[in-house]
Amino acid sequence: MMFKLENSVNQYINLPRELGVGLFIKREDEIHSFVSGNKYRKLKYNLMEAQKGGFGTLLTFGGAYSNHIAAVASAGKQIGIKTIGVIRGNELLGKKRKNATLSFAKQCGMRFKYVSREDYRNKTNDLFIENLRNEFGAFYLIPEGGTNELAIKGCEEILNEEDGYFDYICCSVGTGGTISGLINCSKPSQQVLGFPALKGSFLNEDISKFVTKPNWKLISDYHFGGYAKINEDLVSFINKFKALYGIPFDPIYTGKMMYGVFDLIKKKYFPKGSKILIIHTGGLQGISGMNTVLKNKGLSLIDI
Ligand SMILES: *Cc1c(COP(=O)(O)O)cnc(C)c1O
Repeated sequence: MMFKLENSVNQYINLPRELGVGLFIKREDEIHSFVSGNKYRKLKYNLMEAQKGGFGTLLTFGGAYSNHIAAVASAGKQIGIKTIGVIRGNELLGKKRKNATLSFAKQCGMRFKYVSREDYRNKTNDLFIENLRNEFGAFYLIPEGGTNELAIKGCEEILNEEDGYFDYICCSVGTGGTISGLINCSKPSQQVLGFPALKGSFLNEDISKFVTKPNWKLISDYHFGGYAKINEDLVSFINKFKALYGIPFDPIYTGKMMYGVFDLIKKKYFPKGSKILIIHTGGLQGISGMNTVLKNKGLSLIDI
């Protein structure tokens, strides 16, 4: 196979003893040198399927800072398949040089189609897809955020035998694909906790459709007001964590989850002696885009 992922390491976090829990971080952000984390897990079997079907082009959807867009662009370049990104918000037309994510994707050879926020909402409609096929020819379609059955199959490879040691598995949740894979490969005795990065109650239902076990729960108190919404408190937490333990988190997904896990540890949510595994799903490419936003607002930046 042309597409290979490295194994990730569980890094021990030396917390003050009185907190009473053992904390490890699975460095999925380091499984690939260009674009890291769960997006590659989600792409693996989709790419194999596209190759098997003889597709010359991948088409997918995302916002201007999307980790998924960056991952598809990079993966397509590596395996020699063309990529098209349908990007939400046509106000971005012509601005791509200012956005780190889109300029990275462009360098990887991705072509863009900008659509209005209104049109973007139709992205799963048959007619909308048919029009795209008329415009671009045949393509292998990957949904927004990359979540489908094959993506979940890829995420079922995140945990290994030794991870059976942990009592809790924690991860950030967007569309729910990653946590679904984690639940399916967890042991029934383990608890999988998901921290949604956005507001909304549709997730429980979406996840239920994909999973085979009831050992999971969403903790919805740490979305900071919604997708890509952040505050000074979160930025300061991310910077302190990096300074203390040397591990970077992104402000959209993993930073919010880690903030939540720390808050829960402080509130004694986890029984004494619990062994907790955090899944670092990557997303670090999004930091520079967020820093541009913070800078324009005159707020403090995330340390890189
Ligand atoms: C996309 C993403 C998620 C969310 O994954 P889902 O499978 O959509 O729930 C979490 N963390 C990072 C860094 C991501 O890029």
